[in-house]
Amino acid sequence: MKILVVNCGSSSLKYQLIDMDGEIVLAKGLVERIGIKGSKLTHRPAGKEKVEIDEFIPDHKTGIKMVLDALVDKKHGVINSMSEISAVGHRVLHGGDKYTKSVLITPDVLNAVKVCAALAPLHNPASLIGINACRALMPNIPMTIVFDTAFHQTMPDYAYMYALPYELYEKYNIRRYGFHGTSHRYVSNEAAKMLNRPYDKLKIITCHLGNGSSVAAVSNGKCVDTSMGLTPLEGLVMGTRCGDIDPAIIPYLVTNLGISVEEVNKIIYKKSGFLGLSGISSDSRDLEAAAEKGNKRALLTLNVFYYGVKKYIGAYAAAMNGVDVLVFTAGIGENSSHARECICERMDYLGIKIDKEKNKIKGKAVDISSADSKVKVLVIPTNEELLIARDTKKIVENL
Ligand code: AMP
Repeated sequence: MKILVVNCGSSSLKYQLIDMDGEIVLAKGLVERIGIKGSKLTHRPAGKEKVEIDEFIPDHKTGIKMVLDALVDKKHGVINSMSEISAVGHRVLHGGDKYTKSVLITPDVLNAVKVCAALAPLHNPASLIGINACRALMPNIPMTIVFDTAFHQTMPDYAYMYALPYELYEKYNIRRYGFHGTSHRYVSNEAAKMLNRPYDKLKIITCHLGNGSSVAAVSNGKCVDTSMGLTPLEGLVMGTRCGDIDPAIIPYLVTNLGISVEEVNKIIYKKSGFLGLSGISSDSRDLEAAAEKGNKRALLTLNVFYYGVKKYIGAYAAAMNGVDVLVFTAGIGENSSHARECICERMDYLGIKIDKEKNKIKGKAVDISSADSKVKVLVIPTNEELLIARDTKKIVENL
């Protein structure tokens, strides 16, 4: 069974075609700058040269048509015809509290994605455009949605409620939802497999550290807390997002600087985090390089980030009454031995100790804990696309 996984943003679209017999990626790629000057498709077929098609791509439907054409192309294609695609799995950011699992797309589900757009105005409408474009081009192929929020729906009420007037929750659904759920679910499952221990008997803390970052507490196979909230702004310091701040800063900025809510939004989403604090870059590699050369603000930024991760690990160990496994994943978590070392430094009171030699790895699944560490510390590359494809396969096999 071959499954196409699609992840639509407002001006981009990522895809992978996965052969589920052996879980092999046949091709993957990216459509960038949809509707903007400079748009292009980068198609990477397995075992063949990558192809770049630079031409104006006015909308998502045109982008998806280009992807399908590339997949069946005689030269750089990987399948003979579109009929070889058994199903399409779509990643969608927000499913609210309605969806706890991946689902087959029906008119009701699409309507729910629309309703949840109030909570994810940048993401859900873009996903809907992508889904509708795919449905128009592949009307007879079953499609599913894998929500980024679904895995976190097992959180207890005291973990997801904000202490705001209760009516705001009742009327406007204001509560913690959490994101990166597919990644946290994938790596926590993989951790149990790697250790050959039952998933439902472990206390796992998963650190998804990338351009966007979040931590999750997974107790006995269920997410019990996570650092992102109503939106993916809360929690850790990120590439350009501020993470946790005193909410009173926002009215302070509006009142005392005389700036609009839109401008405040720009500050907290686009101009903060690594970029805002360092004044150098939103990329942790640039900060590591600058800090090594003695740049004080780069060092401060990294220290603020590492300290934040440490605090969440401590908090979630407290929430779960202990921790058996700590997992690092995503761009920084998988690749930066420096970040992992700084985060795990002086955590021996929790039983967390890493082996500096084993920690010198990038992008591989490795146990980096020292022999006397009570907590297993693992690096596990995330693979959200594979989990989306697995969920999709399960759903369509039961149709
Ligand atoms: P992601 O959002 O998971 O793609 O992660 C992107 C971030 O990972 C980048 O912005 C970098 O900060 C970080 N990253 C990627 N590769 C490395 C590396 N080799 N060392 C340190 N950080 C890295």
